[in-house]
Amino acid sequence: MNEIKTDFCIVGGGPAGLALALMLLRSGARVLVAERSLSLEREYRGEILQPGGLLLLDQLGVLEGAQNRGCFRHSKFRLVEGDRTQLDIDYRKLPEPYNYLLSIPQRHLLSELLDRCRAYEGFTLLAGGKASALREEGGAVRGILAKGPEGEFTVHSHCVIGADGRYSKIRRLADIEHERNDVFDFDVLWFKLPAPPPTDRDPDVQIFRYEGSPVIVYHSWPGSVQIGWTLPHKGYREVAKHGIEHVREEIARAVPPYAGLIRSGLTSLHDLTLLDVFAGAAKSWVRDGLVLAGDSAHTHSPLGAQGINLALQDAALLHPVLMESLRENTADAGFLRRYEDARRGDIDTVMRMQVMQAKGMFARGSGPAAVLRPLIGKLITKTPIGMKITRRIAYGPTPVRVRTDLFTTD
Ligand SMILES: Cc1cc2nc3c(=O)[nH]c(=O)nc-3n(C[C@H](O)[C@H](O)[C@H](O)COP(=O)(O)OP(=O)(O)OC[C@H]3O[C@@H](n4cnc5c(N)ncnc54)[C@H](O)[C@@H]3O)c2cc1C
Repeated sequence: MNEIKTDFCIVGGGPAGLALALMLLRSGARVLVAERSLSLEREYRGEILQPGGLLLLDQLGVLEGAQNRGCFRHSKFRLVEGDRTQLDIDYRKLPEPYNYLLSIPQRHLLSELLDRCRAYEGFTLLAGGKASALREEGGAVRGILAKGPEGEFTVHSHCVIGADGRYSKIRRLADIEHERNDVFDFDVLWFKLPAPPPTDRDPDVQIFRYEGSPVIVYHSWPGSVQIGWTLPHKGYREVAKHGIEHVREEIARAVPPYAGLIRSGLTSLHDLTLLDVFAGAAKSWVRDGLVLAGDSAHTHSPLGAQGINLALQDAALLHPVLMESLRENTADAGFLRRYEDARRGDIDTVMRMQVMQAKGMFARGSGPAAVLRPLIGKLITKTPIGMKITRRIAYGPTPVRVRTDLFTTD
């Protein structure tokens, strides 16, 4: 058994884990990241970043490098029904320089963060290291046990951070209850098709509404379109019974500009990945010696493109609390709860906002949402209230900044 001592043991090398690791390293702490995957490929993960996330990455000094690895800028979010655009959110109206949505493969973001972390002597990466148990002393968490290609490790730490995603093992090991909330009445079938990069102008992120099954479409770097077809919750089996020809035709009819691509490129039901859409939150985000961040603390619908933003914001808010906890030599739940207390209200607000968005954009049939949708679309597209809502979606209810004043190195 290998023994490692560190200040902070972060489980999960996703956006929350690696952004937090870099903030702590830059503030002079020692950090170990255990990441079960050996590769940075995260298929069917968040690719769209909101301006709030761009700001934080820029403050952390990684935005330019991540973008240089390849990305697309989207200037608009549009909801299209038939030949009418019902909602047209123009991000170019936001203040520069973060006045766009960024479509960036997660591996570009994660590689940039990881390369920067690697420059610090205090950084250890357990690549392929899967956390399997918590180390506890007197009821407080003091590290983890992890297994990986290089053997078994015992990690001793001041505090463990569970940043291991929506099905968090750390949350389960810590016996923290998780409330799953099936507020969305749809699932999503995702697939990617090769497509030439857009040339004439910045492409948009678009939702096409067609006979009750909205489809989200955006260009993904370097040469593909990412398509998400929404289905009634647990409705996939019924649809799949009719075979790939039926599914292909349904999707092709829903998104006329991409119909040719879909008819030639979508050849098998195996090309589709079914995503169970749910929201959820851990009952508590802290225990003595342990704290949860990102999706492990709160999971959101992927369709509002909020998950990465929120994960990065969690990291930025947790960073000063953890540095102070190290200085004060206490990682009691009472101390760590400062982060949860400061954050939970905003997370609840975002959850409510996403439910409203989903009801407005994805609701089926001819109910009140269908009548109100064009009116609300006009309100958001054409009035100052719309700009206020856009700013909220882009940056979240409360602006968050990286505490660069705590950095001791570049
Ligand atoms: C299909 C889909 C599309 C999405 N689209 C968007 C989008 O466009 N925009 C957006 O902002 N968000 C989107 N999201 C959500 C976004 O991907 C997540 O909110 C975001 O990745 C959360 O970051 P995280 O670091 O908290 O968790 P994750 O990104 O899930 O990272 C967790 C990490 O922990 C590792 N891990 C898990 N268990 C262990 C263990 N036991 N030991 C060690 N490591 C472990 C995993 O391998 C992973 O690398 C989407 C999600 C899905 C599923």
